[in-house]
Amino acid sequence: MIRTRIIHLPSLFILAIAIAGTSFAQPVSEPVDDEANAIIREQGLENSKVMNYLSWMTDVFGGRLTGSPQIDRATEWALGAMEEMGLTDVHKEAWGPFGRGWTVDSFSLVANSEHGSFPVMAYPKAWSPGTDGHVQGEVVNVQAESIEDLEQYRGKLAGKIVLLGGIREVEEPFEAIAERRDAANLLQLANMATPEARRYDRARRQRRLLQRAISSFVIGQNPLVILDRGSKGDYGTIFVSGASVPAPPPDPDAGFMASFFRGPRAYDVSAPETAPQFTLAVEHYNRIMRMLDLGIAVTMDVMLSVEWNSDDPMEYNIFGEIPGTDPEIGDEVVMLGAHFDSWHAGTGAVDNAAGSAVMMEAMRILKAVYAAGGEGPRRTIRIGLWTGEEQGLLGSSAYVSDHFAESPGRFQPPTALKPEHDKLSAYYNYDNGTGRIRGVYMQGNAAVAPIFRAWLRPFKDLGAATLTINNTGGTDHLSFDGVGLPGFQFIQDEIAYSPKNHHSNMDVYDHAIAEDLMQSATIVASFVYHTAQRDEMIPRKPLPRPTTVAPSTGSR
Ligand SMILES: [Zn+2]
Repeated sequence: MIRTRIIHLPSLFILAIAIAGTSFAQPVSEPVDDEANAIIREQGLENSKVMNYLSWMTDVFGGRLTGSPQIDRATEWALGAMEEMGLTDVHKEAWGPFGRGWTVDSFSLVANSEHGSFPVMAYPKAWSPGTDGHVQGEVVNVQAESIEDLEQYRGKLAGKIVLLGGIREVEEPFEAIAERRDAANLLQLANMATPEARRYDRARRQRRLLQRAISSFVIGQNPLVILDRGSKGDYGTIFVSGASVPAPPPDPDAGFMASFFRGPRAYDVSAPETAPQFTLAVEHYNRIMRMLDLGIAVTMDVMLSVEWNSDDPMEYNIFGEIPGTDPEIGDEVVMLGAHFDSWHAGTGAVDNAAGSAVMMEAMRILKAVYAAGGEGPRRTIRIGLWTGEEQGLLGSSAYVSDHFAESPGRFQPPTALKPEHDKLSAYYNYDNGTGRIRGVYMQGNAAVAPIFRAWLRPFKDLGAATLTINNTGGTDHLSFDGVGLPGFQFIQDEIAYSPKNHHSNMDVYDHAIAEDLMQSATIVASFVYHTAQRDEMIPRKPLPRPTTVAPSTGSR
């Protein structure tokens, strides 16, 4: 166990010059505790509980949409599981107000024509209003490439069932759907000299603004139901997220960020009225479209029963600790975390019960390591499971502004640092699906390279050996990085994250890979262990300064 103190640096240098003559360039190598790593491996690879945690979160509680009764129940379970593994200060911390809770009771869609009927595969969008029992209406198609295109539909959509968008061609998957990073990909990452510049994808933003204007127009025409088919997904996989509500046109003076990101949300307590909304399986969407093209009149019978709950508009992050014992640095903290919330169509397995389970398992492994050593960690180790991530890193950014730094808004540099800002050594996040760890994104912080390289070396045999200076975005480590705290996300294998699981109805336990999650929990536990035992805190980048470039903010 690492307990000894590192000898004072200046005297070590003199010693090195004396011994090695001119070779004084060699930095003191970062200590690695092989004994601790042996226990971590044994616990993580031979005595793992990670899939048990995953099954509870997914099979038992299901999709954990922020605000929903499911996430409340899963939260109580997580608190109990943390108590059971012996963590201290186990608690949930409120943030918000967030808004309304929503959950689906039941739904059905059936398409009818003079030639027969067929059930339609679909999922309601989160926070969609329900229908007044079974409703029937004529199916019409709306396609628009510009605001002007919409005029032809004015006054013609009331009481109709609207298919929004054209047919999407479906291609057969001749390429393997799931993949692991190959040597070339990892080498490319490792060879990056500087982090990728933040891109300002104007075209994509303009498209999103147009989409929002089109759905606002259609909603304003009082259709019975609005159906779409998403931009990807086939063979029964449906990608679905939140319902749209009518939004005012963007204020050109407020700039894109403000205008786009502060539009009303369907979960807002004061959200404007909107229409029931579903995403269909593309094959069923296209069939109805082709029938309309053949001049066949189609009607649909749609039923959606939902429940709202706004008794408590606040939401909760979940925490537990292994307290630090070192008289000098025991009040310093190492954090690890992942988002606990998910979308609703699947059970949020690889996004992101996988990350939550890996972090809980890492805490269980760390408890075992310190129990074996008979003493606690030098620094305090704290797990944080966030909610509201899918709605924009809401839970983690609330926590950071409550504890570490005030900032005028997302991605804006801190205006005031809080005392705890000095006490956090690092935050480790996991949120790229079920794939095993291949290395670490250093988020532009080159000073951590020799440290992380030493800590990764013992896990080369498990496929983790790559460090990249690059940033990665879209998830909770950004809340920490944004205020100058070392926040890191691990490089993972993609597996079928983007083509199949990410925000789809097929994000379920069966598509999580046990060996990959066991490997991940093992490596996370080792990184956190060494961060807690290290003499020095993890080196930091300079505090962020105001930037002119609007960063990409898609959530993962
Ligand atoms: Zn995620």
